[in-house]
Amino acid sequence: AALAGFTAATTTVGFAASAVTERSFIMVKPDGVHRGLVGDIIKRFEQRGYKLVGCKVLVPSRELAAKHYAEHDGKPFFPKLVDFLTSGAVVALVFEGKDVVKTGRTMIGATNPLASPPGTIRADYGIDVGRNIIHGSDSVDSAMREIALWFRADELANYTPVATAWIYE
Ligand code: ADP
Repeated sequence: AALAGFTAATTTVGFAASAVTERSFIMVKPDGVHRGLVGDIIKRFEQRGYKLVGCKVLVPSRELAAKHYAEHDGKPFFPKLVDFLTSGAVVALVFEGKDVVKTGRTMIGATNPLASPPGTIRADYGIDVGRNIIHGSDSVDSAMREIALWFRADELANYTPVATAWIYE
């Protein structure tokens, strides 16, 4: 793997760039946007060390919402879920970093906020399963599908934050 690095004082600090390319699709749902939680949610991922590579605000179409939640098509809550997701603005995010899919899910908590441990996003801000603030990809494969659904390739930024070598050894 290619090593990126730089010299800090007398010590050369380097990191394996290939180790940190996993990406997750994270979305603040309309309830999170209405409640002013966008900044806090981005902050939690940033301060953990994850790199923001995609970010946009939009009101999703029914087609986009239904494609995003295609695995739930036919379930009793599906129509309500699509109504809800298309009822207002969402903030679509892509974060990159080591194990970001699984760690992102841990930071988000359980689907039902009442079943989420304190300290998770859904527990800290939610009560109802139909108002659980945030979406996060549940696998690397889902993440790739969802990122391609919500973003064009040229909407994702390639850059190396200067803090990278202080986050990864
Ligand atoms: P997660 O978002 O945790 O990956 P799922 O993929 O199972 O959960 O469900 C997608 C979304 O559908 C949930 O985040 C939640 O908003 C909604 N949902 C799931 N189950 C129910 C339910 N029983 N009643 C109402 N809404 C639900």
